[in-house]
Amino acid sequence: MTSTPPRGLYYAGDWHETAAARQIVCPADGSPVAAVAECTAEDAASAVTAARHAFDEGTWSTTPERGRGELLLRVADLLERDTALYAKAESLDTGKRLVESRYDLADIVGCFRYYGGIAGTDAGRVVDTGRTDAISRIVHAPVGVCALITPWNYPLLQVAWKVAPALLAGNTFVLKPSELTPGTAVLLMDTLAEAGLPAGVGNLVTGTGPEVGVVLTTDPRVDLVSFTGGLETGKSIMAAAAPTVKRVALELGGINPNVVFADADREAAVDMALTAVFLHSGQVCSAGARLLVQDSIAEAFVDELVARAQQIRMGGPFDEAAETGPLISAAHRDKVHAYVEAAVAEGAVLRCGGEIPTDPALAEGYFYPPTVLDGCQAAMGCVQQESFGPVLTVETFADEAEAVRLANGTPFGLAGAVWTADAGRAQRVAGALRLGTVWINDYHPYVPQAEWGGFGQSGNGRELGPGGLAEYRETKHIWHNIAPAPQRWFSS
Ligand code: NAD
Repeated sequence: MTSTPPRGLYYAGDWHETAAARQIVCPADGSPVAAVAECTAEDAASAVTAARHAFDEGTWSTTPERGRGELLLRVADLLERDTALYAKAESLDTGKRLVESRYDLADIVGCFRYYGGIAGTDAGRVVDTGRTDAISRIVHAPVGVCALITPWNYPLLQVAWKVAPALLAGNTFVLKPSELTPGTAVLLMDTLAEAGLPAGVGNLVTGTGPEVGVVLTTDPRVDLVSFTGGLETGKSIMAAAAPTVKRVALELGGINPNVVFADADREAAVDMALTAVFLHSGQVCSAGARLLVQDSIAEAFVDELVARAQQIRMGGPFDEAAETGPLISAAHRDKVHAYVEAAVAEGAVLRCGGEIPTDPALAEGYFYPPTVLDGCQAAMGCVQQESFGPVLTVETFADEAEAVRLANGTPFGLAGAVWTADAGRAQRVAGALRLGTVWINDYHPYVPQAEWGGFGQSGNGRELGPGGLAEYRETKHIWHNIAPAPQRWFSS
């Protein structure tokens, strides 16, 4: 029997072998999933060479935008056709429930369809020169070679948010997915090739940040880095990109406020407060991990929420009774547990969760129960730092002004919500919150037409929507003198 070498290094239209491989395991039970190529710095440089060559050669960037959009629409159709394959791969790598991976796939298809659908709708603009002898046009140009670096929580979704606009704009790319969840990025290379993407336009390197990510953020042949991940990594990427003045877009984390006023629809607000923080076991950048609840309803609201949080069933991707899955790794689970212990040491009141489960059915996986920390104060570490796990901190406020002040009181600004029956207050608070996304009487919905991104230390730049495409475009001014004549600025 012949065995296929581990895949993960793809450039110039071909898979390449690497000296080393990494075993991916399913976080739900530690079982082996697949061996994936463990690329080196040299492998990453080869992928950059291919992307640079393809960009400079120009086939893709000179393909009319509508043609590039048609390819994205074909990719969407192929992803839809292969949903079962992709969803299974995503669930095995992340441990998330199969049903959630299927939702993610629908969103991924939607992202490719959105960018495919807007192809050719914005060709720039003509500027009034105030002269009859000159035409001035603003046109879009691709930035060049893009390094796309992504995290493990929504592996292919984060990839799609970058790959679709990067391709539509006419760029070439080198993708580096998280070393923990590379499976669907490997599959995507096959899909892009099947859709007809020219060789060298889309390239992949699997491996770690310090080994291959650093090459992508420092190589002078890379023009743009788009990164989604943690704050500290984002800072180091910004610094690494500075000497070669790359364009840098950062989508980082946050500890996002979910603000509930006393007049809110109680049943909906409790229910959605659970979804806000415990969806995907809290491994969501926009998780509503900070509950701010008006003091007159706080006790009853939190009692109800805790009672429901204790009922949430944990389990693996194929356990149909499960409502949420494991954390991504033992190391991440231990980090979340240490965060909870530190919060309790600071004075937070543990209302539920907070213990690594002892249930033998969960023993092989990296599970952590929904955890509620009551009685938190703005200055506490748990309120100021992201746990990226299923942990809710609870603070109270007296009035609208205090709610806004507390909600804005972290260095982050990714997303959050306000719950109230008062439409005027809803709009005032939404306007005052320093967040990239504000939901009113809802939590988590997003659409590919609407920009996504953070204020403050949640990052810079935007993904999705026209703004997400703008990240991958240079703006160029073309001036055309249609009646050239000497100007005689200098008389000699
Ligand atoms: P991470 O920062 O550890 O890793 C993200 C990616 O960066 C991985 O591919 C990793 O290999 C790579 N990397 C690590 N060090 C690098 C370096 N020095 N140079 C180049 N690349 C490097 O993040 P993670 O743990 O994978 O993801 C979780 C974080 O992502 C959370 O903080 C979460 O809030 C954030 N996130 C943000 C968004 C958003 O839209 N704002 C979305 C999803 C996740």
